Amino acid sequence: MKRIFVRAAIIAFVLLAAPVLLPAEKKGTPQKSGAKEVTTMIKDIHWLGHDTFRITGEKVIFTDPFKIKRKDTADIILITHEHYDHCSPEDVKKIQGPDTVIVTVSDCAKKLSGNIKIVKPGDKINIDGIGIEAVPSYNTNKQFHTKDRGWVGYIFSVGGQRIYIAGDTDRIPEMKAFKNIDVALLPVSGTYVMTAEEAVQAAVDINPKIAVPMHYGSIVGNKNDAERFAEGLKGKIEVVVLNEE
Ligand SMILES: [Zn+2]
Repeated sequence: MKRIFVRAAIIAFVLLAAPVLLPAEKKGTPQKSGAKEVTTMIKDIHWLGHDTFRITGEKVIFTDPFKIKRKDTADIILITHEHYDHCSPEDVKKIQGPDTVIVTVSDCAKKLSGNIKIVKPGDKINIDGIGIEAVPSYNTNKQFHTKDRGWVGYIFSVGGQRIYIAGDTDRIPEMKAFKNIDVALLPVSGTYVMTAEEAVQAAVDINPKIAVPMHYGSIVGNKNDAERFAEGLKGKIEVVVLNEE
C-alpha cells in the first residue's frame, strides 16, 4: 500500500511539477497552441528595438540597424529606406566588417560606404546563398513614404524560412501577392506607418505563419500597439511579441 502511494506521489510530482522545472521561455509569448513550433521558428530572430532585428543561423543578418548597443559583425545588413532611424551610418559602422554586404536603396547607399548592393522594388538578389527580394513599401494615407521614393521591404530566406520585413509602410495591395511567408515583421505604431488595426488587416492579407509587431517603443508607438495587434489577430494568425534585447 505504501509503495503504491509513493509511486503515485512520484507520478503526480512528474506530471505537476516537471513543467515548472523546465527552463523558462526566454523569447516572446506565443498567443495560441503550436507553441513549440512557434518557439523554434522564432528562436533565431532577435529584436533590438524599433525595426532592428538580428537574425542568426546560416548568417548574421541585421535589419535597419539603429541605436545598436553591442558591437557585432553582420554578414548582411538590410536597410529599407533612408530615414535616420533606419539608415544610420553610425550604427552601420558598429556592425560592419570587411566582408559585410549592405543591401539598400540608392538614397541610403549615398550615406554609407563598403560593399553595397543597391536595390529597388521587384529586384531579387542572392548573397552567399541567402535569397533576398526587395518589395514595395510605402504610405497610402499619409505622405512620409511616398511610392515614388522607391523604398523597400525585404523577403529573404534563411534556415529554410521566408522572413518578410515590411519597412515603413501602410497596408498595400502588393501584400496579398506575397506567398509562403513564415515570419512577417510588421510596423504597428501608426503616425508614419500603419496603425495596429491596419496592421491586423495587412497580416491577414499576407497570411504568415507568425506575425511579429515592430516599429514601436522607440520613436513612436508603445507596447499597447503591439498588444492590440496581437489581440486583433487572435484565432487568425499566431503573433509573437518579442522582448527587446
Ligand atoms: Zn521612415
